[in-house]
Amino acid sequence: MNHERSSFLFQQAKAAIPGGVNSPVRAFKSVGADPLFIKKGSGSHIYDEDGNSFIDYVGSWGPMIAGHCHLDVIRAVQETMTSGASFGAPTVLETTLAGMVIDAVPSIEMVRMVSSGTEATMSAIRLARGYTGRDKIIKFSGCYHGHADSLLVKAGSGAATFGVPDSPGVPAEVARLTLTAEYNSLDSVRKLIAENSGAIACIIVEPVAGNMGTVPPREGFLEGLREICTNEGIILIFDEVMSGFRVAYGGAQELYGITPDMTTLGKIIGGGLPVGAFGGRREIMEKLSPSGGVYQAGTLSGNPLAMAAGIATLNIIKQPGFYEALAEKGQRVAEGIAKAARDAGYPIYSTRVGSMFCAFFSKGEVFDWPTASQCDTAAFSKYFLAMLNEGIYLAPSQFETAFISAAHSEDDIEKTIAAAAKCFKLIA
Ligand SMILES: *Cc1c(COP(=O)(O)O)cnc(C)c1O
Repeated sequence: MNHERSSFLFQQAKAAIPGGVNSPVRAFKSVGADPLFIKKGSGSHIYDEDGNSFIDYVGSWGPMIAGHCHLDVIRAVQETMTSGASFGAPTVLETTLAGMVIDAVPSIEMVRMVSSGTEATMSAIRLARGYTGRDKIIKFSGCYHGHADSLLVKAGSGAATFGVPDSPGVPAEVARLTLTAEYNSLDSVRKLIAENSGAIACIIVEPVAGNMGTVPPREGFLEGLREICTNEGIILIFDEVMSGFRVAYGGAQELYGITPDMTTLGKIIGGGLPVGAFGGRREIMEKLSPSGGVYQAGTLSGNPLAMAAGIATLNIIKQPGFYEALAEKGQRVAEGIAKAARDAGYPIYSTRVGSMFCAFFSKGEVFDWPTASQCDTAAFSKYFLAMLNEGIYLAPSQFETAFISAAHSEDDIEKTIAAAAKCFKLIA
C-alpha cells in the first residue's frame, strides 16, 4: 500500500504544526509510522490522500456512531448554515438538544453546552468544587478526562502511549489536589477518602473506561462509588464523553442502572462537530453562572451547526433496536478477532461493551491501568501496521477503544476478521 502523498503532506504539516498534528495520538508515533492524511469518509469507510480505502474503527475517536456523511446530518448542517453559523445569542436548537439530552440521560435535569469534552470535564469539576466548597478531586489511573491541568494526571490514552503521565506545565500545586485511585478498586478509593476526610469535592470516573483500551467496570464498582459518594457528600461525576449515547442511548448510567450526580458528554452529541456538555441535578446546575456564582462561558457554546448535527445524530440513534443491532455487530467483530488470534496461536484478552471493544495484547485479564500497561505494545504495533496494510484502520495505540458504527456491514465485519486472521499469523 502506497503512503507517499500522506508522508509528503506530513512533512509539510510538521513545518507548520507542532509534530504535524493538532492532537498527539494522531501522529502514529507509538506505532512508528507516519499518519495517513484523510481525504474523505463515507459510511464505514475512510479514504486517504493516496487513494487507499479503509474500514474505519476509529470513527473520529467515537463521534461517528451513524457512520461518515450520514445524509440526515449533512442536510441538517447545510440547512442551518444557510441561516447563519453563529450569533452568540440564544437559539431554539440549544433548547431542543438540551431537552433530548435530559430525556435520554437519567442523571441530567439541566445541561450546559460547551465546545469540547475537555471543557465539559473542566467545568464540571469547577462546579463540583464550587458546590461543595472543597478543593480535592479523585480520578482513576488510566482514565482520561481531557487535558485540563487538574485532570492531566495519570491520564491513559495519548499520555499513556508517550509515557508522560504528568505533563510539563502543570503546576505541582494544581496536580497535588488531584488524588489518583485504581480503576475497579473501591479499597483504593476508601483509603484516599480516609486520608483526606471532608476535603474531596468529587470523584470523576469513566463508567466504562475507554482510554486505556476498553475496560468495563467490575460488578459492584460503580454501585460502590455511588454509595461512598452519598455517604461522604462527594459529587459523583460520570465522564460519559465517550460512553454517552454509545453503550446505550442513556449512556453507561442507563446500562448499569447507577445514577451519578453529574455527567459530562461530548463526541456523539456533536455528530462530528465540536461539542461537549455537562449536566446533573438541578440543585447543583443552578449554582452555575448566571443563575449562580460559578463562572463558565463560551463564545461558540451551543453553536447552531453543532447543535443541528447533534440533534440529527440523536434522531438517528434513538430509533428502537438501534443499540441491539450495534451491539450484535460489536460482538461479531470482537469475537471474530479474538478467535482469529486464538487460531493463530497468539491469544489476546478481548473486551467489549456494546459497540466499544479492544484486543489487549495480554495473556492475563486487564481490569485497571497496571494490568493494561503490561500489554505487549511492540506486538500491537506490528499488528496495527499489518491491519492497516489490509485496509483496516484501527486506532494507532494499544490503549484506545475500537468503535463500530451503524454503517458497518456484514461484509466489512467478515473482511476485518479475515484480515485479523492473516495479521495474527504474521506476528505469532
Ligand atoms: C475524548 C474524551 C474527553 C475529551 O474530549 P475532547 O473533546 O477531546 O476534549 C474527555 N473524557 C473522555 C472520557 C473522553 O473519551
